[in-house]
Order: sequence, then structure tokens, then C-alpha cells
Amino acid sequence: MKFQDEYRDRELVQGLAAAIAEEARQLPEPVRLMEVCGTHTMAIARFGLKSLLPEPVKLVSGPGCPVCVTPVSYIDHAIALSGLPDTVVTTFGDLLRVPGSNSSLMAERAKGADIRIVYSALDAVKLALELPHKRVVFLGVGFETTTPTVAAAILSAEQQGCTNFFVLTSHKTMPGPMQALSADPQLQIRGYLCPAHVSTVIGADAYRPLAEKFGIPCVVTGFEPADVLQGVLMLVQQCRAGRAAVENQYSRAVSNQGNAKAQELIRRVFEPADAVWRGLGVLPDSGLVLRAAYAGYDAARMLPVELPPAREPAGCRCGEVLTGRIAPKDCPLFGSVCSPETPVGACMVSSEGSCAAAWRYGCPE
Ligand code: SF4
Repeated sequence: MKFQDEYRDRELVQGLAAAIAEEARQLPEPVRLMEVCGTHTMAIARFGLKSLLPEPVKLVSGPGCPVCVTPVSYIDHAIALSGLPDTVVTTFGDLLRVPGSNSSLMAERAKGADIRIVYSALDAVKLALELPHKRVVFLGVGFETTTPTVAAAILSAEQQGCTNFFVLTSHKTMPGPMQALSADPQLQIRGYLCPAHVSTVIGADAYRPLAEKFGIPCVVTGFEPADVLQGVLMLVQQCRAGRAAVENQYSRAVSNQGNAKAQELIRRVFEPADAVWRGLGVLPDSGLVLRAAYAGYDAARMLPVELPPAREPAGCRCGEVLTGRIAPKDCPLFGSVCSPETPVGACMVSSEGSCAAAWRYGCPE
């Protein structure tokens, strides 16, 4: 398949692995690199790419899975909304099984709450138009890749005079957590594989302040095995040379400036706000909330509910997994109490979670 097979070519992949090994021999010290994208996490696990890296090059996963970084309090909020009369909660499938403090959306649905899976925010607007006597709440979770579609749905609802559509927002922006992780001396991150989908929207230039402030190389990287290994090679080359630049391995899809139309859609409907990240706590201006002009679509403002005190699942170490402090197998619950059939934490539920990836494909570390 065009744009896929050539990036999975065995000789090309082996050549890149050999080039990384050669560069690594000249590193003054071992380096710790981080990928910050759930799709990268899955691709790296699926193709066993960590096993191709030499000893001095360690690749760890960061907070790149949007479902995983969504805090327990958000799930609690969604569950509380599902308990309101004449209310339909709509969501992407991944959120359904994420444990809240006392329950999950799946469990509430089994008890009778009207919770439906949709494939886009526009589907939720359509449902709201079909059910004028119900309130339809869409769970808006995701990074800059998802946010423009939610903005478009809100504008569509506005255009159609749809007043029974609401969004419970937990949208987040990517450079914020990378800044927080870079500032943590314990983590010793020496380079980032920057997310591909997010970067199609925000552009490679978005990482320049990070590279300049912290002296950490950033390489925007695609998803295929050759992409990932070339991204790692570019990072290792920078580490060896003592450089810290933003480079773009994925130039076939990502520009320096990103997608201006998508950025404008986000700006029109959302504004920056502090956000809570699982594992990282509150990060300033790392989230997006609806502007006052769109307050009528904001489920948090328009549909007040009482929330229980937020409580992380007992024993779950998702926070440490999401910040690269531990690997999934270091969690004592991994594979025993916690599995995709009986997930304890979000990292095992999400199709892009590190624990789910390690369970599905095995993990070499
Ligand atoms: Fe949480 Fe399960 Fe991952 Fe442990 S294995 S960190 S309990 S999701």
C-alpha cells in the first residue's frame, strides 16, 4: 500500500536500526527519549521497535493518550450528567470503560442511563436535532486533532438553532505537558518524538520554545516503523552533536505552521485555561474551554450537578506510567488484577494506552 509498505521495508528498518546503533556508540552518555503520542506508543509496541534500539538509547512513553490523561473527576462529571432526567450522554467508545471514583459510564449504562457511542461530535448534534425534548451531552476529550471537530459541531449546532446540544469539555493542548516533564530533573528526558496527528494542526514550530528553553531536541515523527526509527536516529544524532533543534521527520504531512483553518476553528470557539492532567496535576493554560459566546453549549455551566470527591483507582499507577517514571510491567497490578477485560486504570482501557499496548504486544522492558 502506497505510503505504508515502503515505510515497513525490512532492509530500510534494519538499516535505520544499524545507523542508530552506530550513532549510539559515540554518545557521551545514555539517553532517555520520550514519545508523546498514543498512536506512537501502539506502533512502537506493535512493531517491537524498542527491541531494535541499542542499550544506551531508552525510549519511554509519555502523556500522549488523551483518554489516559483525562482525570477521574471528568469521568465522575460525565456519570453525574448521565443521571439527569431526559439526558443522553454521547461519547467515543474508549471513555466508556474508564473507571471513575465509584463507577464507569459502562456500569451506569447497564443500570439504565442513556449513554450512547457516537463516531463524531456532529453525530451528537444530529441526535440532539432528532431528540428535541432531550438534552444531548457530548464528551469532548482530546488534543488539537479532535478539538477542531468539536468546534465545528458547536458552530453547526449554532447555525441550526440547536439548543439542546452540550459539550463537557476536557480538551488539552500538547506542548504544556512536555514543558512540565522537561522541567522535572528526575525524568532526564533528552529528546522528544513529537506527535504526528497533533503536529498536523499545530505545526512543528510549536515545539521551538520548548527546544530553546530546555535544550531538548524535538523531532516530529510519523507512525510507520521506518518513521519512528528515523525520528529516533535524528534525536540521537542531535544528542551526540549537543544540538537541541526542532526537526521534522514527518514533512509529508506536517508543516512548520500547521493547519491554519483548524487553528482558527479552535480559536473561534475555545480559549486556553488551566487543565488537570492525570499524573501531572494542574498545568497552566494546557487546556481549552468554551469561550463565553458559546457558554450555552457548555455542559459544565448549563447543567449543574453534584460531584463526588475524586478518587483514583486503588493501586493504579497510571500517573507514573504516563510520565515515564515506570513501565507498565512495573505496576504490581499489571496482568494480574488489571487486564483489558478487567481494567483498573485508564491506561489499560484506552486503545492507545501504554498498559494496553504492553498487554497486547508484550513489552521488552
Ligand atoms: Fe493502572 Fe492497570 Fe496500568 Fe497498573 S497496569 S498502571 S493498574 S492501568
